[in-house]
Amino acid sequence: LIELQGVHKAFGDLHVLKDCDLTVEAGEVAVLIGPSGSGKSTLLRCINQLEEPTAGRVRIAGVTQGYEEEPLPDGRWQKLSPKRIARQRARIGMVFQRFDLFPHMTALQNVMEAPVHVLGRSKEQAREEALALLQRVGLGDRAEHYPSELSGGQQQRVAIARALAMEPELMLFDEPTSALDPELVAEVLTVLKELAEGGMTMVVVTHEMGFAREVADKVVFMDDGQILEQGTPDQVIDHPTSERLQGFLASVL
Ligand code: ATP
Ligand code: MG
Repeated sequence: LIELQGVHKAFGDLHVLKDCDLTVEAGEVAVLIGPSGSGKSTLLRCINQLEEPTAGRVRIAGVTQGYEEEPLPDGRWQKLSPKRIARQRARIGMVFQRFDLFPHMTALQNVMEAPVHVLGRSKEQAREEALALLQRVGLGDRAEHYPSELSGGQQQRVAIARALAMEPELMLFDEPTSALDPELVAEVLTVLKELAEGGMTMVVVTHEMGFAREVADKVVFMDDGQILEQGTPDQVIDHPTSERLQGFLASVL
């Protein structure tokens, strides 16, 4: 479903991603690990078109991100307009480290917002779907609460429900639990695990190695902008080959 081919990203002279190749099949969970500054967030942002690769391409379900599905008659590929890019981006759900809920809206309103305003759902239908999603993340009884009245873990679960409300084809998570108090991490990881079991294709940046072992089909180790190792949790976490990965694992395990 997700295919990165030779993805390179530079900010001026700073080469943040170097020739990254990665494939995530439909229904697979890929966990992305690596030291701070290694390019994990930038890789997610390239998948989601929040950044444009300097070279290489990202394909989702066979379609190159940012380009028309068919070439022009002369064989050239035409870039999409910003509006079309926004529409492509809407197929991908993203949840960040910081729960970025709208503070002046209840949990329910947060989840309903995009379906009503972007997908053009009726309020009644959006409300029904939002309530079902809040139920699914264990917050059926918190629908009328404002973000300030929710714990960090609850806010993060609302953020996940909000992303799911757009019916994304895949979900990206950038350190979804690293801003949470330790006792709240499990409730968010449980939601991620259930999503994975439900067949959602996911790329998750996390340092929660227990989660990676249990849920990941593929663990990807990034270092200095490169994908240094990738494979099953057993291969990558339990039998790392490079010294860099061994050192990294020693620091997080
Ligand atoms: P962390 O674990 O700390 O979140 P990361 O692996 O997610 O790190 P990135 O956020 O992808 O790393 O950043 C990789 C490198 O790219 C860093 O050196 C960062 O400073 C740089 N970088 C990221 N975004 C930009 C930008 N918009 N302009 C310039 N440099 C950037
Ligand atoms: Mg990051």
